[in-house]
Amino acid sequence: MTARILIVDDIPANVKYLEMRLQAEYFDTLTASSGAEALEIANKGCVDVVLLDVMMPGMDGFETCRRLKENPKTWHVPVIMVTALDQPSDRIRGLESGADDFLTKPVDDIALLARVKNLTRLKILTDEMILRTETTERLGLEKTTNSKFLQDMENGRVLIIGNNGTADKRLKEILSKEQEVDICANPEFMTQALHDIDYDLVLINLDLDNFDGLRLCSQIRSDQKNRHVPIMLIVNPDEQARLLRGLEMGVNDYVTRPLDRMELGLRIRNQVKHKRFYDSLQDKLEERVEMAIIDPLTGLHNRRYLDNHLASLISDSLKRNRTISLMVIDIDFFKLVNDNHGHDIGDEVLVEFAARLRKNTRGLDLACRVGGEEFVIVLPKTDRVKAFRVAERLRQSIGKKPFDISGNGGSLNLTASIGIGTLERVDDTVSLIMKRADVAVYAAKQAGRNKVIAQAA
Ligand code: GH3
Ligand code: MG
Ligand code: MG
Repeated sequence: MTARILIVDDIPANVKYLEMRLQAEYFDTLTASSGAEALEIANKGCVDVVLLDVMMPGMDGFETCRRLKENPKTWHVPVIMVTALDQPSDRIRGLESGADDFLTKPVDDIALLARVKNLTRLKILTDEMILRTETTERLGLEKTTNSKFLQDMENGRVLIIGNNGTADKRLKEILSKEQEVDICANPEFMTQALHDIDYDLVLINLDLDNFDGLRLCSQIRSDQKNRHVPIMLIVNPDEQARLLRGLEMGVNDYVTRPLDRMELGLRIRNQVKHKRFYDSLQDKLEERVEMAIIDPLTGLHNRRYLDNHLASLISDSLKRNRTISLMVIDIDFFKLVNDNHGHDIGDEVLVEFAARLRKNTRGLDLACRVGGEEFVIVLPKTDRVKAFRVAERLRQSIGKKPFDISGNGGSLNLTASIGIGTLERVDDTVSLIMKRADVAVYAAKQAGRNKVIAQAA
């Protein structure tokens, strides 16, 4: 895992030192000696993580960070604030200005690499999702401001893995002021606990009695459900080698004993924030994927989905030497429903209509709403005769029972015309089969509506 890190500090010796450390780990580095220069470089869009000194003449680190986070081109670039050890309040100010993590001077090597790697990982995930959704604007992410992140740092669900009863309870007490904390006192049950509840952070004591904390980390990282849940380790100062192993395995952060309560609290809030951010990206992505293929009114697949899948369903049938049919269903005189009862009632009827379609088809069939009151159902492994039978059943289920309309407690009668197209010959194309169904539904309309017609064109 490599990335391009922008190092921002007004003192050249500091820049040199960080540059050397990061380059030794094969990170690519860029440097800036002022906030203004940093903004200019980051704006070009080639930076993965910013290491930002707080104390700089002119624009200080807080202001620089705020501006990075306000800019739609750079808001998603993680920022690590480098603060003076004797100014603990700087860490809080840093997070308030939107920073994603902090390091204290003098910068400890392990801490530096741990924070940079953790945020590089987050950046890679963010980039991937942005790419998949094409633009940040379309994700609606421009609304995701820092203040929103700040509200989201508390009431996270934290799971402590330990087997030292008293110490764990004390830790829980401390953390419970801000987070919702559970203790898993027997590491053997960790997997179960993680499956029952969606945690925002797992806090693991590395020195568990008779248990290897690192093994737990690897279990979490190889579990499909929890691959991305943040892991934080609590380590003793003499456990550096194991800590490094943990970081290589994908541990996100750590704190060293004796615990600094404020630092622990901040780091936990920070991980909770990252987790929520990641979750919200994931939700938006799923929403978008769904929007792209589902008709929001009826919940059936839309035309785009049909267009994409019909060709492969048909070629698959040809390959397996199976037949396949489709029906085009058009509601009769639907315009009258709107004219007589209003558009909202029309919509309600469409929803009920779709429900009847679903009820009369198999799980294997693909039901789509392809236009206002036009539907297509694809019936794999179904020949013309069987398709006709299904369509007849469907036609009757529509015509037999009136459709309830909520407003006036009344109901209305509805019928539909159905045309069937079937894969008949090996050289049939998608458009030819569709054409057969279209011609048939037109014939059904001409023949007086409320009919099924299936004949090879
Ligand atoms: P035919 O029997 O010839 O199919 O007559 P029709 O009235 O069903 O056909 P036409 O194509 O003339 O009209 C379709 C109507 O469907 C027109 C439009 O107002 C209505 N419509 C299309 N989409 C929607 C929708 O999403 N909601 C509602 N309520 N009505 C819709
Ligand atoms: Mg119609
Ligand atoms: Mg129509």
